[in-house]
Amino acid sequence: MTTSPHEILHSIFGFDSFRGPQEAIVNTVVAGGDALVLMPTGGGKSLCYQIPALARPGTAIVISPLIALMQDQVAALVQSGVRAAYLSSTLEWHETQAIESQLLDGRLDLLYIAPERLVTARMLDNLARVKIALFAIDEAHCVSHWGHDFRSDYLGLSILKEQFPNVPRIALTATADPRTRADIIKRLGLERAEIFLSSFDRPNIFYRIAQKQKSLDQLEAFIRREHPGDAGIIYCLSRNKVEKTAEALNQRGIRALPYHAGLPGHVREENQTRFLREEGLVMVATIAFGMGIDKPNVRFVAHLDLPKSIESYYQETGRAGRDGLAANAWMVYGIADVIKLKSMLDQSEAGPEFRREEKRKVDAMLALCETVQCRRQLLLAHFGEELAQPCGHCDNCIDPVPTWDATEPARLALSAVYRTGSRYGVEYLVEVLRGERSERILTNGHDSLSVFGRGTDLADKDWRSVFRQLLARGLLQPDPEGFGALTLDESCRPLLRGETTLMLRREQTKTVTPRKTGGKPVLDIPAEDRVLWEALRARRRQLAQEQGVPPYVIFHDSTLMAILAARPRSLHEMGRLAGVGEAKLERYGEAFLDVVNEYA
Ligand code: ADP
Ligand code: ZN
Repeated sequence: MTTSPHEILHSIFGFDSFRGPQEAIVNTVVAGGDALVLMPTGGGKSLCYQIPALARPGTAIVISPLIALMQDQVAALVQSGVRAAYLSSTLEWHETQAIESQLLDGRLDLLYIAPERLVTARMLDNLARVKIALFAIDEAHCVSHWGHDFRSDYLGLSILKEQFPNVPRIALTATADPRTRADIIKRLGLERAEIFLSSFDRPNIFYRIAQKQKSLDQLEAFIRREHPGDAGIIYCLSRNKVEKTAEALNQRGIRALPYHAGLPGHVREENQTRFLREEGLVMVATIAFGMGIDKPNVRFVAHLDLPKSIESYYQETGRAGRDGLAANAWMVYGIADVIKLKSMLDQSEAGPEFRREEKRKVDAMLALCETVQCRRQLLLAHFGEELAQPCGHCDNCIDPVPTWDATEPARLALSAVYRTGSRYGVEYLVEVLRGERSERILTNGHDSLSVFGRGTDLADKDWRSVFRQLLARGLLQPDPEGFGALTLDESCRPLLRGETTLMLRREQTKTVTPRKTGGKPVLDIPAEDRVLWEALRARRRQLAQEQGVPPYVIFHDSTLMAILAARPRSLHEMGRLAGVGEAKLERYGEAFLDVVNEYA
């Protein structure tokens, strides 16, 4: 069986051409070489091992950390006519045996398996008796302590190199961090692997970060305007907030499910399955909901709390728009978030060095929030990539942020902190600056300070904005003792001495809706196409339900969009659309042609 990678790409997966480095990766592995693939989520990692699996003789063994992930991948492959299976603890004994005998008879193209199962004596023994096309190690960053997905089972995978020195190995991850990369190479023995580092840009995602006002109202407006009926993920910091937010959304008529580590296992599992299988569900979650969310049509990721680093933010927002269609990353944050995150760090048990490092990460995240420049340029720069021009596809590019010279007010704010003994929070400091004769101020005698009443020309909310931005820039720090008190940071000296000036963003009472796009639905189906679009989706839903698989396993949204645009009249025309391989054409071609004939 010598089918070329291109033929496989076309006939099985229904795509015309490889994307980015896919072809080079596939060729390396087909030729028997090792590869380390670093590609963002949605970049197209799966084909990098699935095509060599089909092009090389023998069975490809895919190591994957999560059952849900394996199930979905296998379901999708089977739909495309590929002989794929998975082994997991959820299977009955006779099912396991059946799959093992398929493996031993050479009747499998791909076998997905969890790492702890792979390294059992029984499995290694079986593998020694069959022809292996390749080993693919998915989510390879799980082998590293650096990320938050470390799995000790992954360490055992070093055995593959020793026991199967002639089988090519391909490791894949969406984590760009150089330390993680070095770890993967060392622990998996991939010194000779060719490294494929792609751009981490996600051009289809629109990034947007705004001030928190009434966050639930802001969120609801965003979902109603831009995501009616879409699937999305909303991240919150605490379990309690997850529950409350999910409840509030349901009350407001937006179907939402909670997910956090405090829920019983079966509830978590059920909610995750519903999110994958049903359309238009919103998942409100802590970061416990993450890896393995392979759902390609998550149309938005929203943050109601500040993530603790740019890495987390990028990983979480990266779960939007894996299918390459338009998607939104949306976040609101406020001064309280900053203080909460930092004082959580101050009160943690960790050593001082770790805390310093974590605080630096928070500061970098804040810099992203407060920047007046292109968000994407800053994000990519964080991962060591340079984007020559502003992207034109983020809030700051679409609605440039006005700035103002805040040198004087900033100095006043800093001296208010200093003169009051670094013992007060923002509300009090604003009162002092605005010259309010509140009881507290009079009791403390702070009405006699030189800064008292010096700030009447700015409104309360403008002062809060100044304090927030000073905090975000690290010129002020939250008091480690907590209680929201602010203290001066060393770095504010040049400003206090009049050696530097400070430009801050002018706060707009903006609605988090980009002016230029007017907040239309993110996948804007023209009115005249909607009936056909809904009919195509309904047919897909019906087919998916009959087989108990998620709808996207039948066809991705991008394929339905292609049908919508092309309105194919024959199976031949249908077969030319992206995502329609031979097996799917045979299975579903007629069903969707009927819909086109009926509604177009
Ligand atoms: P990753 O695992 O890197 O997150 P996937 O392998 O799930 O990404 O691919 C993301 C999406 O891109 C999928 O919808 C997949 O069908 C699509 N895709 C991948 N490669 C191609 C290609 N060469 N042409 C068109 N679509 C592709
Ligand atoms: Zn931009």
